[in-house]
Amino acid sequence: MKFSVLSTLFLATVATALPSSEVERSTSFNATVLACKALKLVYSTQVFFPGEANYTAENEHFWTPTDYLSPTCVFTPKCTTDVSSAILILTGLKATFAVRGGGHMPIPGYANTIGGVLIGLTDLNEIQLSSDNSYVSVGPGRRWEEVYAYLEPYGLVALGGRVGIVGVPGLLLGGGISFYSNQHGFASDNVVAYEVVLASGKIVTATSTQYSDLFWALKGGGNSFGIVTRFDLLTYTSPTVCAGITEIPSTEKDLFLSAVANFGQYGSADPKAAVIPSIFMLASLNITVYTSALFYDGTNCTQPALANVTAIPAIENTYGSTTLATYVEGTDALIADGTRQAFRVVSSLATAEALSIVHDTFVDMVTANIWDVAGLQASVAFQPVTKNFIQQGINKGGNPQGVDISKAPYFWMVENFSWTDPADDATIYAFAAQVTDIIEAKLSAAGQAAQYHYMNDAGLGQEIFQNYGAGNLAKLRSIRAKYDPLKVYTNLMPGGWKVDAA
Ligand SMILES: Cc1cc2nc3c(=O)[nH]c(=O)nc-3n(C[C@H](O)[C@H](O)[C@H](O)COP(=O)(O)OP(=O)(O)OC[C@H]3O[C@@H](n4cnc5c(N)ncnc54)[C@H](O)[C@@H]3O)c2cc1C
Repeated sequence: MKFSVLSTLFLATVATALPSSEVERSTSFNATVLACKALKLVYSTQVFFPGEANYTAENEHFWTPTDYLSPTCVFTPKCTTDVSSAILILTGLKATFAVRGGGHMPIPGYANTIGGVLIGLTDLNEIQLSSDNSYVSVGPGRRWEEVYAYLEPYGLVALGGRVGIVGVPGLLLGGGISFYSNQHGFASDNVVAYEVVLASGKIVTATSTQYSDLFWALKGGGNSFGIVTRFDLLTYTSPTVCAGITEIPSTEKDLFLSAVANFGQYGSADPKAAVIPSIFMLASLNITVYTSALFYDGTNCTQPALANVTAIPAIENTYGSTTLATYVEGTDALIADGTRQAFRVVSSLATAEALSIVHDTFVDMVTANIWDVAGLQASVAFQPVTKNFIQQGINKGGNPQGVDISKAPYFWMVENFSWTDPADDATIYAFAAQVTDIIEAKLSAAGQAAQYHYMNDAGLGQEIFQNYGAGNLAKLRSIRAKYDPLKVYTNLMPGGWKVDAA
């Protein structure tokens, strides 16, 4: 009650500060222009317009130029109340907006906007370990490398990205696959509290015991429910790990695929082990190699669970004793930045037959169809997902993904295309959709397809919530209706995977 009175007063103040003629002329056409002016009145140093250096920096604070768009203005909140106030202004004026965390989702318009207000969360950068060290509170402006570096002196880790530059919020709202997921489930299964700005502007904290339906929805339901301004993440003791990248020549295809299939089938035997085996194709050098990120949560790096991969003759192998923070710092330099990017996701049972279908179809089709695209890099990462990964989510109260444990283990594969010329965008998007359709048709015909599609690795138009566990899409929609009855985070913030669009 107290909150809504304050909110009304706030909006009224902003509205009266604007010339009345402008308020009267507010239509969907100029609503964002007006919202930018209103935000500027209240937050003079936190709103930026085209031509200003801060506008450009925020608009290009994305992993790939495919996401640089043309917001009318950029707003950079410094605290949760700023977010809440902005939501009141935006909803009051019916202005469209987008929210960006780390900016790593490569689908244009999913975290940025043409003509709306871009809310850049960079300055919501809290990071604080709890007094008993059991959880760490992290703001959505943080990246995983910062979380790992902060926790390292304590010998602790939290579950997050296997690449350090990735943003905290997007990864957690889609689930999050971590090196520790075979032990502890999705990263989001290890969130103990979310601070959220609801569509009404109200700030709530969702946990397993308060706003518990919202808490469940946020573990994989995406951005249809609110703007998360703080995540409390369980910490785990893991002072030293074994990690590194091995690069295997294409001549070792059979050994490589057999090692990946073996890990896929038997990975549950040692949940401390993780691998990200990939096919990596580089058109300019006309080469295909197999790379694998190898990981073990422990001090002894000679582990039977990884032996099939480490035994293959490698061009290079950096696997060895390190810390999570040091490992991600080293690999960040290997991640392409500044090139055009697209993802596509495919899921299968974790079998040799499925691997062979995906490998051969992908390599043959890329070589035959897009090998001459400027700057092309094409890859498939086979992410082995064990039964224990899924079981951990169930043990921790369940999640909206509701992955079918009876058919686990799985490969959740991400196809990644990288290129340099915007003129090739249409070619790549069409090819990515086509090769995925053909792979999925072949997997289905062979009885090797799996239902669940991981949101954070998906491409435009792929079905996500439709493949969540039975009944979960309907449940997500009803939670959306309860917390955002006017569909603010669906209609005024159209970017992202929306439960109502599924
Ligand atoms: C190089 C690279 C490596 C990756 N590695 C991994 C990995 O190891 N494991 C894994 O699981 N995934 C991985 N991913 C995928 C990653 O999880 C997604 O790209 C994720 O969306 C990134 O989060 P972000 O905050 O950077 O994204 P953004 O692009 O900023 O946001 C993604 C979506 O979340 C919404 N959003 C962002 N912040 C908020 C908020 N606070 N409240 C509400 N909505 C919000 C945005 O509106 C947008 O729709 C990787 C991606 C890349 C590019």
